[in-house]
Amino acid sequence: MPPRVELVTAAPETLAGIPAWRFEAHGACALFLGRGAPARDAALPAGILPAGVAPAWLRQVHSARVLDTVAGACGEGDALVTGQRGLAATVASADCVPVLISTPGAVGAVHAGWRGVAAGIVPAALARMSAHGGLERGIAWVGPAIGACCYEVGEEVAARVVEAAGAETRREGRGARPHLDLAHAVAVQLAAAGIERIVCLGLCTRCRPEWLWSHRRDGEGCGRNLSMIWRGPG
Ligand SMILES: [Zn+2]
Repeated sequence: MPPRVELVTAAPETLAGIPAWRFEAHGACALFLGRGAPARDAALPAGILPAGVAPAWLRQVHSARVLDTVAGACGEGDALVTGQRGLAATVASADCVPVLISTPGAVGAVHAGWRGVAAGIVPAALARMSAHGGLERGIAWVGPAIGACCYEVGEEVAARVVEAAGAETRREGRGARPHLDLAHAVAVQLAAAGIERIVCLGLCTRCRPEWLWSHRRDGEGCGRNLSMIWRGPG
């Protein structure tokens, strides 16, 4: 059965001059920042994070490696999980899928491109989160990523993602090459691991130059959209 997904296509608000989409659950705040977001390890403009919340980031390598969150640089991996308050788990992306997850006991941020989907970064992050009191009442926000409209891939890549997340992730495009719906693939993996509520920002990075960075559209030197989630300082 396909996962049930709530689709959000709202225009962003503007936070410190940056397009932003904000969500809340269990006292946690999830924030997606689009075009104009600073580099992941640069100082954030005032007004992005509340006082007492420190950003935490990764050196992302398209792996299935989940790290515990500390303030600042956390090391090499593609997901951050924490039960602590006051730490903003952050991932950077420009077409890959950013996923922010909240349960009553923890928050997690995941960077999932096709390699991450195939390697299982989403279930790996959820397994780590379940150690903080389970996944019951969990909610996941699937952020802006390249849509099936624009994500043309080779047969080998399509086969790897279909193997990991089912045939529904493959879509036919205008040309002969397959297209992939990576956000759908992530939703399949979230639902399979027991996340009850999945909210998907149905915005294609490549189709929305006014709001979002896209590596396929902007090429090398392209900026990164930032996705952050934190539990309030208490
Ligand atoms: Zn598109």
